[in-house]
Amino acid sequence: MTAVDLSALDPEQAAAVRAPRGPVCVLAGAGTGKTRTITYRIAHLVAAGQVRADQVLAVTFTARAAGELRGRLRTLGLGETANTVQARTFHAAALRQLRYFWPQVVGEVPWRMLDSKFPVVAQAANRVGLASGTESVKDLLGEIEWAKSALIAPEDYATAAVTHHRDTPFPATRIGEVYAAYESLKTTPEGLLLDFDDLLLHTAAALEDYPAVADEFRERYRCFVVDEYQDVTPLQQRVLDAWLGERDDLTVVGDANQTIYSFTGATPAYLLDFSRRYPDATVVRLERDYRSTPQVVDLANRVIGMAKGRIAGTRLQLIGQRDEGPDPEFAEYGELRAEAEDVAQRIEGLLASGTAAAEIAVLYRINAQSEAYEQALTERGIAYQIRGGEGFFQRPEVRQAVQELRKTSARDDLPDSSRTGKQLVTLVKAALARIGLTAAEPAGAQARQRWESLVALVRLTEELVDQHPGLDPAGLLRELAARAEARHPPTVQGVTLASLHSAKGLEWDAVFLVGLTDGTLPITYVLNGDGSVADQAALEEERRLLYVGVTRARIHLRLSWALSRGDGDRRNRRRSRFLTGLVPEESPASRIAAPARPGGEAARPVCRVCGRALLDSESVLLRRCKNCAGAPDLELLGALQDWRREKAAELAVDPRGILGVNTLTAIAEQLPEDEAELAALGVGESKLRQYGAEVLAIIRSRRRATFRP
Ligand code: ATP
Ligand code: MG
Repeated sequence: MTAVDLSALDPEQAAAVRAPRGPVCVLAGAGTGKTRTITYRIAHLVAAGQVRADQVLAVTFTARAAGELRGRLRTLGLGETANTVQARTFHAAALRQLRYFWPQVVGEVPWRMLDSKFPVVAQAANRVGLASGTESVKDLLGEIEWAKSALIAPEDYATAAVTHHRDTPFPATRIGEVYAAYESLKTTPEGLLLDFDDLLLHTAAALEDYPAVADEFRERYRCFVVDEYQDVTPLQQRVLDAWLGERDDLTVVGDANQTIYSFTGATPAYLLDFSRRYPDATVVRLERDYRSTPQVVDLANRVIGMAKGRIAGTRLQLIGQRDEGPDPEFAEYGELRAEAEDVAQRIEGLLASGTAAAEIAVLYRINAQSEAYEQALTERGIAYQIRGGEGFFQRPEVRQAVQELRKTSARDDLPDSSRTGKQLVTLVKAALARIGLTAAEPAGAQARQRWESLVALVRLTEELVDQHPGLDPAGLLRELAARAEARHPPTVQGVTLASLHSAKGLEWDAVFLVGLTDGTLPITYVLNGDGSVADQAALEEERRLLYVGVTRARIHLRLSWALSRGDGDRRNRRRSRFLTGLVPEESPASRIAAPARPGGEAARPVCRVCGRALLDSESVLLRRCKNCAGAPDLELLGALQDWRREKAAELAVDPRGILGVNTLTAIAEQLPEDEAELAALGVGESKLRQYGAEVLAIIRSRRRATFRP
């Protein structure tokens, strides 16, 4: 390999790249080129002949980030051959190693990856006599995962839960029992079932306990690199230590202020203590932000500037290097739907003005928030892909595709030679053609979305066949299952919808941070019922999530929130407390961007009493200002409320979920005569279908009563 051109690096980055083999630590904020630095360092060490490419193991935390690393290494000339740098997640690296070493270490006992932990935890909960509803099992699973990542054994769980202030859903001793039962259930007569953490544990143990295994491994891998090191768990660190043995050829990069996985047991302590552990380490700090405009960088600095605690003490002020750009925008909406629709409309505008769909992201705190955006984008025919959620693999067409592939895999009328490599791609295409894969892109947003998913599966198969030429249908199915578990969907062309957690390390030209309300970011469980802080450390992690979000944007950044969920639920929400001091409220209201409206000013509704423009969704619904006297028919309102109460009891739901009190008031004021008029009052399609006839009947009977001659 020819020498690597280091002119694309600044002096500090170059210092980290040129440092001799041995411990190197890059501690720096978002967008300062940490990931760039490690890829250049690897390429430089290889080009200078200091290490062979296939002796380098680079690890990170998500499959997506590992893919990003491989991509960047490829552009530096590494990655064309099989004997190249391994860039993997901890789990993928451990899985490979374990497959190789298992016979030496365990011998005959067969093992396989556990497809899903959920049913086993449910069974364990049953055995111990704890409730095994979905939510409880998820909570128990979270605790077991945390304990394993933190290297806490079942018998130590109860004590550790107390010292670590775990907010446990059940008494800690009982959770310890479920954990123990879970571990024993994985030993079955057919062999061992291993979960993701077991892979790491067994890998570490094999290297720690079997000198021959350790020697062979350490002969093979000599140089280790870790990206996003602030999010390493004690278990992953143990694996890393086992890989290294007595050696210190380790480069780590990270940003303690982007620690966002503490809840899984991750800790920035290893990053922050690196130079204490390796006193002769080269430590580099980077401050120049190459990713974002000075406007975005300024907001990022202010977000993290308000952080408190030990981690916050390590932050560095970022200095923006890019040209000036637009100011970040802040926008408040009455209802969630209005927020989602406006975001979709703005995305349409960006696309129309030439921004590529792949350069736009909508980021949110929890995966459930994606739904409103999926709908709003679909309505406008804008393709999107979901990251981080189980989204992709749960789409009906993808599930259907997997079923088709299972059928193909089960066929025994095909010779083996026609089931691998390039032939596999043809087989997959044929299978997917049966469920609607066409050569040409179909019309219609729904059809296109479905088609895009199937195309993505074909492309993924091609990629996998490239990596493993012997791949057969069964292997492909295993790979898809592993990716579904690791939440690593294939790339689909389109706008990205992603949780903040899964956006780490990535960047887009335009970023929409949505749903920024108290109770969503920060998430509700770090707060008490009255809004006071329940867990200060967890609150700081929520603030770091906002910092991660802000720092994903290169140019356009828009932060928004809605004051109610809408859909009958009119509970008021507050803007996220993290935005206090950031929203330019002292400046004219126009700085708070008004929602874009298709018809301009003329489309804005006015009060039917005083004629003034109506701004918030509640008055739009009532068609009058909240303070202008309305004249509801009080008897009718009473009748509607009685009906709603009975209906709610009958369906066993919250009455507010049927129709909100403002909607009832609007009906009692405006006496709609048909479904269209009801719809104009904001009664959605499904509610019209469910309740429209009944509501109209109540109005009619009231009218008959009033107008009797
Ligand atoms: P994060 O903390 O979000 O993971 P990072 O520190 O890893 O960020 P990178 O992703 O490596 O940052 O770099 C951010 C962007 O800046 C990338 O687009 C990268 O190509 C670019 N970049 C990094 N260093 C330089 C440089 N010296 N000159 C020009 N561009 C750079
Ligand atoms: Mg990075």
